[in-house]
Amino acid sequence: MNPKTKQQKRVVELSAKLKPITQKQESWAYENCLDLYAVRHRNTLYCLECGHSWKDKHVLETSIIGCQCPSCGNNLKMFQNYRPNCRDSAYFSIITTKAEFQVVRMFWVQKIMKKGERPVYRNWEVMQHWIDQHGEITSMSMRVQGLSQYFDQWIFASELEIKPKFNEYQRFHIVPYKIYPSKRILPLFKRNGFRGYFYDMTPHQFLSIIVSDSYAETLLKAGQISLFKSYLGNRPKAIRSAWNSVRICMRNKYIVKDAGIWLDHIELLRFFGKDLHSPKYVCPADLGGDHVRLSRKKHEIDRKRRHMEQLAKIEAEQKDFEERIGKFMDLVFQDREIIVEPLKTVDEFFKEAEELRHCVFSNAYYKKQDSLILSAKIDKKPVETIEVSLSRLKVVQSRGRGNILTAYHDRIVQTVNANMPVIAKRIHL
Ligand SMILES: [Zn+2]
Repeated sequence: MNPKTKQQKRVVELSAKLKPITQKQESWAYENCLDLYAVRHRNTLYCLECGHSWKDKHVLETSIIGCQCPSCGNNLKMFQNYRPNCRDSAYFSIITTKAEFQVVRMFWVQKIMKKGERPVYRNWEVMQHWIDQHGEITSMSMRVQGLSQYFDQWIFASELEIKPKFNEYQRFHIVPYKIYPSKRILPLFKRNGFRGYFYDMTPHQFLSIIVSDSYAETLLKAGQISLFKSYLGNRPKAIRSAWNSVRICMRNKYIVKDAGIWLDHIELLRFFGKDLHSPKYVCPADLGGDHVRLSRKKHEIDRKRRHMEQLAKIEAEQKDFEERIGKFMDLVFQDREIIVEPLKTVDEFFKEAEELRHCVFSNAYYKKQDSLILSAKIDKKPVETIEVSLSRLKVVQSRGRGNILTAYHDRIVQTVNANMPVIAKRIHL
């Protein structure tokens, strides 16, 4: 696109004045960004670096760890899916300055390999990211094949041109595999905390954020790298809302090693009403230990709260249940040690389910209009829970602990069946 804004025009003008990549930078890229390869055909190994070939005497070993070329001495990896003119490629960046801009130049470097020959190296400058003093990024890019399955199928014949809203494209977010070691950095970026590392971020986004976001800048300068990464990653809101505690850490020279755990811990401290300005809580010597302790405490409170909620639910359901089931309440069937009687309250459903670990409570069997739920007990302990269909006068199911049938199952079902006429009589009361 033709440059439209003043800033875009300025970038295009300055871009034309950037020097081409030097011989030294090119050689560095070829040596550092690409791997060295061999390929085997039958029992012969071919060095794809110098063209030498030799007999492979350690087939298994070379296929796992690669080999060393006896001619050029390079340690070589085995190239997978070799065909003549196969390629290896990578992105690398050169970081420099031009006038008032910090510039990240992105190159695509490629090596073309063929058995018996030395490889051919090539490189293209495919993108430039220009960062101004306020962190605003203006990007230039080569064109790509529109219908390719890859988002970076570059058209190498195209020129770098201005790309507005480039951050909406995947290409904008490419992290270079390597960065040329010698960098030129404007004083502003050094002053705002840049110490030579990009922490796996794209360099242009990193440089932009440290001059445009005071939280990021502060964290970086304080050496709070874990918090910094987390802030730029998935938990910016959590860090902003814990900012007072972050400041306590910085004042006490306490480095947060694991931002994820620390942020969770701050949430717990908040929950327990602890003083979030106190270094005693906010800068624990044993964060892991304190965190586990508080997590357990919170877990126990949650469990109790859930139980209270269950109780409230039980109370609400109890009246309807009594109206429906009242006429069956006093039924008792017995076969020697086995005593079968209805579950008489919703609370008994809850306890039966706890005891036998099945879903008679969670699935609200006390609400089922057609069901009478009975409990078979021995020595007052539940053995199986029985569901009787009132319309069909049949045992629908009878299940023990964890829904498994017990040794008493057949006797229990027989006992209920034998008493079905008694149940039938009650239905019409
Ligand atoms: Zn070689």
